[in-house]
Amino acid sequence: MKAVRFNGVGKPVSIDDIPKPTPGPGQVLVRIGGAGVCHSDLHVMEEELGFQAGFTLGHENAGWIAELGEGVQGFREGDPVAVYGPWGCGHCHACQLSMENYCENADSLGAAGGGLGFDGGMADYMLVPAARLLVPLGTLDPRVAAPLSDAALTPYHAIKRVLPLLTGDTTVVVLGIGGLGHMAVQLLRVLSTARIIAGDVDDAKLAHARQRGADHTINTRDIEAATTAIRDIVGPRGAVLVLDCVGIQPTFDLGARVLGRDSRWTIVGLGGGHHDFRFGSTPYGCEMCTPYWGGRAELMEVIAMARDGRIKAETTEFPLEQAAQVYEKLKAGKIVGRAVLIP
Ligand SMILES: [Zn+2]
Ligand SMILES: [Zn+2]
Repeated sequence: MKAVRFNGVGKPVSIDDIPKPTPGPGQVLVRIGGAGVCHSDLHVMEEELGFQAGFTLGHENAGWIAELGEGVQGFREGDPVAVYGPWGCGHCHACQLSMENYCENADSLGAAGGGLGFDGGMADYMLVPAARLLVPLGTLDPRVAAPLSDAALTPYHAIKRVLPLLTGDTTVVVLGIGGLGHMAVQLLRVLSTARIIAGDVDDAKLAHARQRGADHTINTRDIEAATTAIRDIVGPRGAVLVLDCVGIQPTFDLGARVLGRDSRWTIVGLGGGHHDFRFGSTPYGCEMCTPYWGGRAELMEVIAMARDGRIKAETTEFPLEQAAQVYEKLKAGKIVGRAVLIP
């Protein structure tokens, strides 16, 4: 079968022919319907994050059950499923709560999940090590559902934990309207009554944010002008939440300037920006956090919302063979919503 392979930092991906896996006891083989192309893959390919070369990329996956390993119950061949991405040990306290993204034994597992050290879903088939990592899609098409497993789950997890702050008289700033950001805007619209300001350097993405429910859009290319524009909207109270889906230095700098007191500064973008967090460097009561991905039960919640049409990933489909070109497009900021590779 064909698979998009990670060949080491600084090396281009390749489309290789590799053997189709056979599921062992407890494992499940999924025929991939779609695999989302995530910006974090670019970090995997360009930075020393400790990943060994020689695995299949793709950590946002959905498809149909192709084969059940011995002893697997609760699924039938042909069932449409999403693959939960962060694979934990399955038995620690965090994993028992379904929060495998915070698995206590993560360091001893050898990799973070399929497409992040283990073979992922940019291939005809993907081997999933345990049935607990699958979420039934019901009527949802796997090609549309694939991005939900990260691009929607990550902002959902980040937003859900701060919902009590998001009252109708508050303002949230979402920075970066790419794969995660365009889902974040929709999720905020569905889950809260807060006013939403979307920031991006690309006017097309801002137009997209407005369609998806943002009340205000601000071009953030000029940080000074963007700071003034956002402060004019939020007033002295400042933003109650800055959800930074980019995480580069300019978005850190902008976030620091618009947050209010007793606020939350949530960084989900892997851009490597930095803030000197100490007394006086942020408004009083501001909590800074870096939530990672989301829980399995939360993926079920996201999928339920998508099935009911309350959120929708904007996807552009490409053949699997075009993986390298799609990564180039993503790097150049030329993808609106989420690119999905179709084997
Ligand atoms: Zn991702
Ligand atoms: Zn665990």
